[in-house]
Amino acid sequence: MKISNFHKIQKWLKENDIYFHKDVDISSRSWIKAGGIVRTFIQPDDITKCHELIKFFSKEKINFYVLGNQSNVIVRDGIIETPIINFIKLSHVKLNKSLNGLHITCGSGVPIPKFSKNLTNRGYSGAEGILGIPGSIGGGICMNASSYNSYLATYIKDVKVVSNNGELLTLKKKDLNLRWRGSIIKDKRYVVLECKFFIPNKNYIGENETKKISDKILKHRRYYQENKLPNLGSIFATKNIYKDLSRKNIIFFLLYIFYKLGNYFFYKFNKSKILSFRKFIITLYLKMLGLDNFDQWGTSDKTLNCLVNKGAQETDKAISFLKEFKKKTKKYFEMENIILEDIH
Ligand SMILES: Cc1cc2nc3c(=O)[nH]c(=O)nc-3n(C[C@H](O)[C@H](O)[C@H](O)COP(=O)(O)OP(=O)(O)OC[C@H]3O[C@@H](n4cnc5c(N)ncnc54)[C@H](O)[C@@H]3O)c2cc1C
Repeated sequence: MKISNFHKIQKWLKENDIYFHKDVDISSRSWIKAGGIVRTFIQPDDITKCHELIKFFSKEKINFYVLGNQSNVIVRDGIIETPIINFIKLSHVKLNKSLNGLHITCGSGVPIPKFSKNLTNRGYSGAEGILGIPGSIGGGICMNASSYNSYLATYIKDVKVVSNNGELLTLKKKDLNLRWRGSIIKDKRYVVLECKFFIPNKNYIGENETKKISDKILKHRRYYQENKLPNLGSIFATKNIYKDLSRKNIIFFLLYIFYKLGNYFFYKFNKSKILSFRKFIITLYLKMLGLDNFDQWGTSDKTLNCLVNKGAQETDKAISFLKEFKKKTKKYFEMENIILEDIH
């Protein structure tokens, strides 16, 4: 993109009454609390404007990028000229009860916890597990977000998207090519505008029951997942990083056995020390992987599969850390965190 493009873009946005911020500091918005400055950060407040915007970019051959709640993306340092579209203002939630169940329509900027609460507070089961995922509906569909066996996508009826060339499409759930932490949205870089869900009556178990389930899950999450330092959830798309790494060589195999036995022992006989044990073993893993020297960046004391920021504002070292981690483990799993490094 030519540098002068941002004047043209901002002029067009003003003429078309589309809200945008200039020079947005990503470090103040992203979940990892670090990253560069986005020259044009666009927040359309309705679907039609959003569609028009993408048609404009397509016609003018301007590259753009979409960000949701920035809970899975690490953005490079410096000035980013590529316009970013963010959907926080597409936050409408419409509910409609029919004879067979509950219909919900959500704008792509609706936070996943809000969607989950909409169901659990009404006594519908199925979304208790995703209550703690800090993403948006659009980001969640793109990443096929899930937690504790509950998937955001389970109750999707259809999704309204725009393709990169500005075509408006309605995709059924079966068209989404959903897989572990991926979807057609990710592959084709479609832009999610809105999603319709349907939750059948058989999911109704009453508010007391759904509350019990979600409280239990949240308690488990708080205890076993990072909740103090800025992070982006899981680095890699794996359900068990230790087991996958055990295939690397005999040392990692033995480390895994030690990890399993230690976990079993502390869980059974001394639960209050289980996190200290995990912290110790994670230190060993980082040493063995040669990843123990990245200044203010490292992994959580609770899990090896989570990047944490211990006070940095810049992402250069974090990106090196992630690339190094990926290089040393690429045979075993795919990256889940998205690195926005090559963006202009
Ligand atoms: C503390 C913490 C805990 C987490 N726990 C979990 C978990 O349990 N399970 C889980 O699955 N994930 C988890 N995550 C990761 C993250 O929340 C999910 O991947 C989430 O779905 C990302 O949504 P987002 O709106 O933040 O997307 P972003 O991080 O902003 O973007 C992620 C991707 O989605 C795309 N995208 C965003 N919005 C749209 C849109 N409207 N249309 C098209 N593409 C879009 C972006 O272009 C990007 O490629 C966790 C993250 C954190 C910080």
